[in-house]
Amino acid sequence: MTTITAKKVALIHYTLTNDAGEELDTSRGSDPMPYLHGAGNIVPGLESQLEGKSKGDKVKAVVKPEDGYGDKSDLPPQAVPRSAFGDSEPRAGLPLVVEDESGNQMQLWIVEVLGDKVMLSPDHPLAGVTLNFDVEIVDVRDATDSELEHGHAHPGDGHHHH
Ligand code: ZN
Repeated sequence: MTTITAKKVALIHYTLTNDAGEELDTSRGSDPMPYLHGAGNIVPGLESQLEGKSKGDKVKAVVKPEDGYGDKSDLPPQAVPRSAFGDSEPRAGLPLVVEDESGNQMQLWIVEVLGDKVMLSPDHPLAGVTLNFDVEIVDVRDATDSELEHGHAHPGDGHHHH
């Protein structure tokens, strides 16, 4: 039976809860999520616990923040004017790539929108959160050449591009 190793695409159903048992995300009720194993498509702590699993396996994975979305920084959110977003609609939880004066790119997250101010933080919304994944492996297949080239899984048999 095909097991999950590098260069395989796994289709998984997952439900993610925090330590309080609140559901944060789930694939159940829609299509299973495909991901390319070994490519950093999913958080490292989950990827490592799915290694070697096969179709039909069920995995309960507890992922500490350091293997998930990182620890919380102590940096307070920074306000930027909403006008900086132009026509796009800033919403809490959305990621944003910004560039500093020297051209370095940095990933920020929108914490909240307060009137004409948008609060930004370097912390992922799930930074500092222990992630409890309830996973079922729906299928495992070889990655296609284009998936390997792109570094991510494509839906279906992996041949058509999104
Ligand atoms: Zn692609």
